Amino acid sequence: MATVDKIPFNKPFIAGRELFYIAQAVTFGNLSGDGHFTKKCAHLMQERFGIPKVLLTPSCTAALEMAAQLCDLGPGDEVIMPSYTFVSTASAFVRMGASPVFVDIRPDTLNIDEALIEDAITERTRAICVVHYAGVACEMDRIMAIARGHGLRVVEDAAQGVNSWYNGRALGSIGDLGCYSFHETKNYICGEGGALCINDPQLIQRAEIIRDKGTNRQRFFRGEVDKYTWVDVGSSYVPSEICSAFLYGQLEEMDRISDRRQEIYLRYLQELLPLQQQGLLQLPEIPEGCTSNYHLCFVLLPTQTLRDELLEYLRSLSIRAVFHYVPLHNSPCGSQFAPGLHLPQTEQLSSRLIRLPMYYELSAADQQLVIDAVRNFCLSRVSVPI
Ligand SMILES: *Cc1c(COP(=O)(O)O)cnc(C)c1O
Repeated sequence: MATVDKIPFNKPFIAGRELFYIAQAVTFGNLSGDGHFTKKCAHLMQERFGIPKVLLTPSCTAALEMAAQLCDLGPGDEVIMPSYTFVSTASAFVRMGASPVFVDIRPDTLNIDEALIEDAITERTRAICVVHYAGVACEMDRIMAIARGHGLRVVEDAAQGVNSWYNGRALGSIGDLGCYSFHETKNYICGEGGALCINDPQLIQRAEIIRDKGTNRQRFFRGEVDKYTWVDVGSSYVPSEICSAFLYGQLEEMDRISDRRQEIYLRYLQELLPLQQQGLLQLPEIPEGCTSNYHLCFVLLPTQTLRDELLEYLRSLSIRAVFHYVPLHNSPCGSQFAPGLHLPQTEQLSSRLIRLPMYYELSAADQQLVIDAVRNFCLSRVSVPI
């Protein structure tokens, strides 16, 4: 087993009644999917986020795979997306035979640069998949206008954006489809979990079929057909009630969890601001109109060498900070779709970024240790201001 860090990067937590609800699920006599707690989670998110239909899934990856199938993609089709993202954003579409078209990111939010999307559109483009990095929204008004102008589907990879908002609208509720994650590293967790948000009502029935092994069992349960059968290609995308019960305990405490993350985030920003003012590091920005869920706090060092040294220095103090995505266009699988592609912002920013420890139970004293360590490092080692 790896050594235990004094301050880990992330730590799963109990926020309220998670364990009680799991026990309750057992007494209800139903641990497979779509029981009491799966429905309660879906309803809570539909109401709170203004989404016509939310279907819980075993992961955000599963939700992305469903979204890709619902976009009706096939070989030769192209999907525009950032390269600075998790593998699943791209692999979900590649599994359908489509090709990812990687677009560079903005230096302030590290989200897809909306000004570059139009140039990436060809007659084979079918969809745009945006990623709301760190829980901060992409420029969705502009992106939706481009998509509508070209007849493209929009999928939001809102894995990190649950309970984040853009001009009063919840992330995941804006595109045709949105995908959430409840993986233990995200804000609201159940170990492994996700949800598909369906904002185009015409996609609901097919989504239910794909999710339930390609059968029309949901219609059968509602009494709309007298037997259920195989009607489409699907998979097993229904999560267990145990996960949903845990998740409901977290979703009920959503505000408290967000408030705590906001406190931690603002303290990092406040304490590290003098270093930014001296040009020793760069802090994240949240644009006007975006309300963050404070999924993560990253800092940018002047160079990759300094970033790597800071990670090593923190590790020597038993503090676990981490870098983030290796750009997909440079990965063994992703580079096949983009031979020779150069995305300057993506390559540069990803090599200079670290994410600081951020979790619900991070104590003020432990956070201070992280802040002091970053400060010590910057003041003693960073001699080339940004
Ligand atoms: C975490 C994450 C995923 C994958 O979520 P899972 O629930 O682990 O499948 C996909 N996209 C992004 C941007 C993520 O951060």
